[in-house]
Amino acid sequence: MNVQSNFDVLVVGAGPAGLSFVRSLRDTNLRVALIDPATREVLQQPQPDGREIALTHPSKDILTAHGAWQAVPEGEVYFLRAAKVVDGVSPFELHFATPKMAQGKPTDTLGYLISNHLIRRALFEQVADQPNVTWLTERKVQRVTATPESAQVTLDDGQQLSAKLVVAADSRFSQTRQQMGIAVDMHDFGRTVIICRIAHDESNQHTAFECFHYGRTLAILPLTANLSSAVITIDSQHAQAILDLSDDELAADLHQRLNGRLGEIRIASQRHRYPLVGTHARRFYSTRFALIGDAAVGMHPVTAHGFNLGLQSQAILAELVRNAAAQGADIGAPALLQTYDRRHQRKTRPIYHGTNLIVKLFTTEHAAAKVARTAVLRVSGALSPIKKLISRQLTG
Ligand SMILES: Cc1cc2nc3c(=O)[nH]c(=O)nc-3n(C[C@H](O)[C@H](O)[C@H](O)COP(=O)(O)OP(=O)(O)OC[C@H]3O[C@@H](n4cnc5c(N)ncnc54)[C@H](O)[C@@H]3O)c2cc1C
Repeated sequence: MNVQSNFDVLVVGAGPAGLSFVRSLRDTNLRVALIDPATREVLQQPQPDGREIALTHPSKDILTAHGAWQAVPEGEVYFLRAAKVVDGVSPFELHFATPKMAQGKPTDTLGYLISNHLIRRALFEQVADQPNVTWLTERKVQRVTATPESAQVTLDDGQQLSAKLVVAADSRFSQTRQQMGIAVDMHDFGRTVIICRIAHDESNQHTAFECFHYGRTLAILPLTANLSSAVITIDSQHAQAILDLSDDELAADLHQRLNGRLGEIRIASQRHRYPLVGTHARRFYSTRFALIGDAAVGMHPVTAHGFNLGLQSQAILAELVRNAAAQGADIGAPALLQTYDRRHQRKTRPIYHGTNLIVKLFTTEHAAAKVARTAVLRVSGALSPIKKLISRQLTG
């Protein structure tokens, strides 16, 4: 059956970015539709996917304003007090100490860690009964087109929808982005991330630890003192070999690579794999169309910026849309979308390209790159402005 429906805003994708954006439009008169192929039950109870999302202080503020932070079960928000980066056997390391202030308030935490499925669940709870939202679950956007007057969306069941603005939050491989003719810088790193939880005898001191071994990177993200997430990044052709190891073999391998710094290790969850592809859209808008979340920028996870940027994207766009709606102005006007694009690109471009540069530097095995790595760690360790810049990013 073909149903013609008009909305103010159509949001494509009920991942964390799409859900956050919808929540940001709660106290408005805008009629919003949220489209996702998953069932409502799956969106309500997402399963663990291995990702422990490092969140900055500004992200905490956004999630708290949404009511989502408070909805994460007690004991499931982990504190990242400090971080250390080391390069193979080089004696130099970069240390990010516990900050004293964040967002203008005293703190004893560099950032936070929350499992991705719990963030998604908490956000879903905040929008599940939102009065101005129509849920279109088990539906996929098949086609999106736009004229200066309105945007049109065709769903996979033939339904035709129209809106003043379509907001795409349909992942870094966004099909709607492609349909709207937005070019994207895409980089396949040829590497795969393998993640699992590990239990260990020695405390992790609530400190993240990133070690660039030759050929692979190992990051330890602290959850409780004796529970961490181990994140192995490796050339994709060697990923299967790690997945094939028994739990005891993997634990022994991690123990050896960490020089015993966490004591005896036991594998405490199943393993998840993510092939690494970075994406950055050249523009974050088209006619009556905007990109948020990973659809705008899909980051390499090493600097843990992906969802933090996603939250910022939806906050910038939502504020512009809310203001326009309050003044009775056009929420899909080109000037509004260009302002969004300018503000968000300014934040994301340096972070995206800077992260890719770091990845290149720390994964290239040439002798020159090894020397450069040591120099970077040595200089960054000694030059507090570089560290301050990174710390400020985390603490706002
Ligand atoms: C290993 C790993 C570790 C990470 N660690 C961190 C971290 O520490 N800190 C951090 O900030 N970020 C981190 N990230 C990034 C973070 O997970 C992502 O930025 C975030 O999940 C993206 O959310 P999203 O809503 O934009 O997209 P997604 O989560 O990809 O959701 C997209 C949604 O769109 C829907 N969809 C797709 N196509 C269509 C269609 N045609 N029609 C309708 N719906 C559609 C999908 O069903 C899905 O629900 C990490 C990522 C990985 C892979």
